[in-house]
Amino acid sequence: MIFANIKLLDENFKVLENMFLQTREDKIAYIGTTMPEKTSADEEVYDGKGKFLMNGFYNTHCHVPMTILRGYGEGLSLQDWLFTKIFPFEAKLTPEDVYWTTKLGAMELISSGCAGISDMYFHIESEAKALDESGIKANICNGVTSFDPNEDLAGNRGWNETWSLLDSVKNGKFSSRIKVDMGLHAEYTNNERVAKLIAEGAKNADLGIHAHLSETAKEQAECAERHNGQTPAQFMKAAGVMDCPAQFAHCVYVTEEDEEILKKAGSFLIHNPSSNLKLGSGIAPVKRWVEKGLKVCIGTDGASSNNNLDMMEEIHIAALLCRGATKDANAVSAADIVKMATVNGALAQGRKDCGAVKVGNKADIIVFDLMKPNLQPDFDTLANVVFSAQSSDIVMNMIDGRVVYRDGNFAFINKEEVYREVNERLSRILKELAADQK
Ligand SMILES: [Zn+2]
Repeated sequence: MIFANIKLLDENFKVLENMFLQTREDKIAYIGTTMPEKTSADEEVYDGKGKFLMNGFYNTHCHVPMTILRGYGEGLSLQDWLFTKIFPFEAKLTPEDVYWTTKLGAMELISSGCAGISDMYFHIESEAKALDESGIKANICNGVTSFDPNEDLAGNRGWNETWSLLDSVKNGKFSSRIKVDMGLHAEYTNNERVAKLIAEGAKNADLGIHAHLSETAKEQAECAERHNGQTPAQFMKAAGVMDCPAQFAHCVYVTEEDEEILKKAGSFLIHNPSSNLKLGSGIAPVKRWVEKGLKVCIGTDGASSNNNLDMMEEIHIAALLCRGATKDANAVSAADIVKMATVNGALAQGRKDCGAVKVGNKADIIVFDLMKPNLQPDFDTLANVVFSAQSSDIVMNMIDGRVVYRDGNFAFINKEEVYREVNERLSRILKELAADQK
């Protein structure tokens, strides 16, 4: 496809006018100020007048299948919400339920400009199938939990699902867009032995690790009690988790010492502002992270604690929150935020071949319609994207050179079928839960 006369955001975060960009197979083949030669007679020339093109987003912390739980168990603190509402509901989910609710989540991710997702859940083979079919990139893990002091992981569901999905990926069951990470749910859902085994397993198999870290004040305090004054970051480091490429979600309560540990390890800190606000967890010190040169990326978290998977909304809140919390209108620039959601996100997912609009990179491209009341005048396009644009302004999402979404339509997902399946499955689960109460 050739995008003609389009405004675009280049790899240096510069907005360039009247540009031409050509994709060939899964890559960006040409960027320039003149029309490239068509490679075939039927190659589409997309009229880019009044449009803005940039790299798609990488949502680096989510639980996509939790989309079926949107609005369920409102008004509880993280720990009450997990143990009294979420875990009993999740026990009812079948692999087919996970497949359909993942498709619903994929629709939201794709229409809000996501090229990739890092996800932690269970029944991950079904999840991988749904995400792969929808056309999005995904790093999938099962966040291992274990409350057994003698756990050796042999019978651990999360652990076994991880290896089984890795086998499927290696055997070519899925496209190269699907990757497997090792999941360690959190310090508070595992003991030291398990954390060590997980880190060792990830290291031996050359996998990245995805974990929750320092999400709440309670987690921070209880970790110190359990582990001789250690912070969750110190616990992770001691277990060897940071010897692997690691992505840590939330990090609201990391200390300045923890930040040094994370920086030295080269770990990624995932900012989840909506979820941190909604669950009353707190505000992460993002300005400090940026100033210290930590690797920050952005994630929506699941639909039950956000309540949407809209990356446009997430970058908007991330920018506002950081400035409001620090009383500094310069705390983060629009470019800082876009970098977190694009380049840094791709790197956190171990994808060095995408994340910026540049020749040779995979074509992960989103297009905004600038002829919208909220995007005119177009004085500062990047500021418009971060502070004013809505996901409904996105008219195209291309991932690895394939158009997966255009003008409200999904190339590989049947919307009506997904809405019907998810709602029928929700009714069944609620009935089962009601029966358990009797
Ligand atoms: Zn999470």
